[in-house]
Amino acid sequence: MAEVSLADTRKVFGTHTVIPELSLSVPDGSFTVLVGPSGCGKSTLLRMIAGLETTSGGRIEIGGRDVTAVTPSQRGIAMVFQSYALYPHMSVRDNISFGLRLARRPAAEIDGKVRRAAEILQLEPYLDRKPAALSGGQRQRVAIGRAIVRDPGVFLFDEPLSNLDAALRGQMRIELLDLHRRLGSTMIYVTHDQVEAMTMADKIVVMNAGRIEQAGSPLDVFDRPQSPFVAGFIGSPR
Ligand code: ADP
Ligand code: MG
Repeated sequence: MAEVSLADTRKVFGTHTVIPELSLSVPDGSFTVLVGPSGCGKSTLLRMIAGLETTSGGRIEIGGRDVTAVTPSQRGIAMVFQSYALYPHMSVRDNISFGLRLARRPAAEIDGKVRRAAEILQLEPYLDRKPAALSGGQRQRVAIGRAIVRDPGVFLFDEPLSNLDAALRGQMRIELLDLHRRLGSTMIYVTHDQVEAMTMADKIVVMNAGRIEQAGSPLDVFDRPQSPFVAGFIGSPR
């Protein structure tokens, strides 16, 4: 069963059609990567799945439930952005638990979830620090921690590593795949970086100008590109 499915989803901003009509099936438990050039509509699509953007047409289902008209907090998703605005005056612990505290979850539950997230992300030594005293990679882990404690069925990542330097980016890719293996949750990961897409995805979705050019395994897309765009973008000879 598809964990997330889009059927004839459209997005129009005023007179500008960003996504003409798009259908997509994201397998349950997969690490699905949406890749395409800047401006092709990746963030818009992810924000529609998250409910942060309305749809102009079509349906979105998460876990078999029609969520097209459901508010973001009721969709069972958590999103991690490129600019992971942490609260500078709060400790790592309080940043991670902020959403749970807002939802007035019991203290014992909050404590347990923060401890588990910190263990998974190796943030235990830093729980009492402020974000200013962390490295870029540690800050990004705190942002991921905020998503983990919500126990989402689906994680949405919008270019989460693009603010990091190349070495750290490589390290964080490994950590994210490790997280995926540990949690087993469905992850949808947006990037404009072909190498990132090819090395991380178990399903890769190549987008161009609001449409899906091709979707499949990385090997399939690399070996059998179905359009000149895919061949050029992924960079395999034809
Ligand atoms: P990507 O994430 O692939 O770089 P985006 O989804 O951010 O692309 O943007 C796709 C297109 O939609 C761009 O042409 C962008 O200008 C347009 N767009 C995005 N958000 C809005 C908005 N709120 N209002 C009008 N146009 C928008
Ligand atoms: Mg974007």
